Amino acid sequence: MSDRTLNTDPLIDRFGRQVTYLRLSVTDRCDFRCVYCMAEKMEFLPRAEVLSLEELYDVAAAFVRRGVRKIRLTGGEPLVRRDVMTLIERLGQLPVELVLTTNGSQLPVHADALVKAGVKRVNISLDSLNPERFHELTRTGRLEKVLDGIEAARQAGFERIKLNTVVLKGRNEDEVLDLVEFARRGGLDISFIEEMPLGQIVEHGRAESFCSSDELRELISSRYPLVESTENTGGPSRYFRMADSASRVGFISPHSHNFCSECNRVRVTVEGRLLLCLGNEHSVDLRDVLRRYPGDAGKLDQALVDAMEIKPEKHEFDLDQEPQILRFMNMTGG
Ligand code: SAM
Ligand code: SF4
Repeated sequence: MSDRTLNTDPLIDRFGRQVTYLRLSVTDRCDFRCVYCMAEKMEFLPRAEVLSLEELYDVAAAFVRRGVRKIRLTGGEPLVRRDVMTLIERLGQLPVELVLTTNGSQLPVHADALVKAGVKRVNISLDSLNPERFHELTRTGRLEKVLDGIEAARQAGFERIKLNTVVLKGRNEDEVLDLVEFARRGGLDISFIEEMPLGQIVEHGRAESFCSSDELRELISSRYPLVESTENTGGPSRYFRMADSASRVGFISPHSHNFCSECNRVRVTVEGRLLLCLGNEHSVDLRDVLRRYPGDAGKLDQALVDAMEIKPEKHEFDLDQEPQILRFMNMTGG
């Protein structure tokens, strides 16, 4: 079946929600080993199990044909995948808003090319402004490199840059105000993320390190009064504005705020597993379809349509019973 004869009706699940947003993981590998994301010693996927750049493109194009309007590239660290820019350049030609989540370490090399390829916005993870602590939290990362990456992104001219900070009690929650100040000075947005129980982590109990968005919002409001913004991403984020700054402050709260009824997103792991919900294991093996019927866009399309039948209504995270989801975040595509 030629691509042109394929149905372009939107992807709508059993609960009437339309999928318009794809988070596509382009690698499970990373140059960092953040404590909340990976174990210290990780085994990464053998190459044969990973989708090729061509296969990743075909998956993205199939979703776009079916009405996906936004694609976020993630990982692992997307910018450590060899030749990833060739994929990004192709995706930049699709009628879709293309955005990227990165740890920032490779941005000094790639920021300009990303803007040129059509990437409009980047999210850069930053959990601490203290070099030693940054190294402890990322196990292998160097703060200086990431700060250079942030500066490269500012110079490159993305429409928006957002920092992502996972807040862990006793580890970096005392830096929240400094991080907001850093974002304000750089004209960046910042989101604080509640840690999610993905994968078994031995170093800290998730419940002990849990820091709720409500707590953080109260803390930040004590210095910078926050006004709730009407912007809504159909996800777990809530955004606030400050009267004296263009920077926005967001809170990503999978625990304290239920967002499932507005869910508009799915994820595809780099193995080609289509995950219908971050907090559930329901998935479809797109790699099997891609490799069993190479070049058959109709089969891939049908797999997406069929998947809508198993998208769960909501996620169930419970901090007292960990881990509920055995895959790590780098496998999930954060
Ligand atoms: N390597 C890139 C980065 O760090 O931005 C992209 C992938 S990373 C998995 C995407 C986001 O997920 C990052 O902002 C990271 O902080 C966040 N993350 C990782 N593990 C998490 C967890 N267990 N709970 C909440 N957020 C997590
Ligand atoms: Fe790597 Fe991002 Fe996971 Fe940190 S959060 S280990 S940077 S994939």
